[in-house]
Amino acid sequence: MKQGFVLKGMQELGQEELKKINRYTRREFSSDEIYTFSVVLCDNEIDRDNERFTVEALKQLAVLFLGKTGIFNHSMQAQNQTARIYDCAVERDTERATQSGEPYCRLVAKAYLPKSEKNQDFILELESGIKKEVSVGCSVAKVTCSICGADLKKGGCEHSKGKSYGGKTCCAVLSEPTDAYEWSFVAVPAQREAGVIKSFSGGEISLTELEKSLTDFSGEITLTGAQGAALLNYLENMKAEAEYGKAYRKELQNSFVKCAGITQPGIPPEAMKRVADSMSMEDLKCFEKAYRQKADEILPLTPQLAAMQKQEHPGENAQFKI
Ligand SMILES: [Zn+2]
Repeated sequence: MKQGFVLKGMQELGQEELKKINRYTRREFSSDEIYTFSVVLCDNEIDRDNERFTVEALKQLAVLFLGKTGIFNHSMQAQNQTARIYDCAVERDTERATQSGEPYCRLVAKAYLPKSEKNQDFILELESGIKKEVSVGCSVAKVTCSICGADLKKGGCEHSKGKSYGGKTCCAVLSEPTDAYEWSFVAVPAQREAGVIKSFSGGEISLTELEKSLTDFSGEITLTGAQGAALLNYLENMKAEAEYGKAYRKELQNSFVKCAGITQPGIPPEAMKRVADSMSMEDLKCFEKAYRQKADEILPLTPQLAAMQKQEHPGENAQFKI
């Protein structure tokens, strides 16, 4: 998942542009009925995930994003509202160089939506600059280390992303895009800065990675549906295991309260229960064991082997015989 932004709203709509748009519409639209805007989907600069696209990858993405609809269902009443990309191309800025020394290139898409009543609010938000950011999702076949060229999909190398090696910042180089599956508008709070969304795009979710992000990351975290399902499945398993854990704790608590009742008859069981409830598992185990042993001395809860053996020689314990 990458961040892009809206470049500008409402452009001059020439006949050529209109032709491109009408390839995607069910009927012919006139320029008065259509609202268009430009979006920068991504570029070849190193992003905050320390990843960058190759220029070739951007060119391939330009083809993949063509015709793709972007969703803007973040606003309150909006449902299934979309804008469609009708033109997409790589723009090159010869005066600007990227951190890796390439000419700066960005993927700019032109999108349209009908000027209908239900789109009015959205168009207003676009015009006023509220809906500035878009998040972009795509998958790539190749991820390599910018320093040594190692295939990072197959495993790591000795370089860490973000660190500098001989003056060159290490990053993951993304190439050979296979699919461009979404672009959507992000509702942007005024003070929002870049870098607040961590997305787990594509493929299997690494629970370790997710856990780390939840611990270290203060911004928003987005998951795909499949990843959400994987996480849910994991939680279901955890819940089942937690049930066993709870049952074990309950057993320990009951035993503790019972044994404490024998060894400390002055303390009401209710008070002991409250103590047991608030104990850590470690303390509970330790107290339960100590009280059980003590209780066993006072009132053997289980017939002990030694006691049973003694009964075989009634003469020795004759005075205790009932
Ligand atoms: Zn490397």
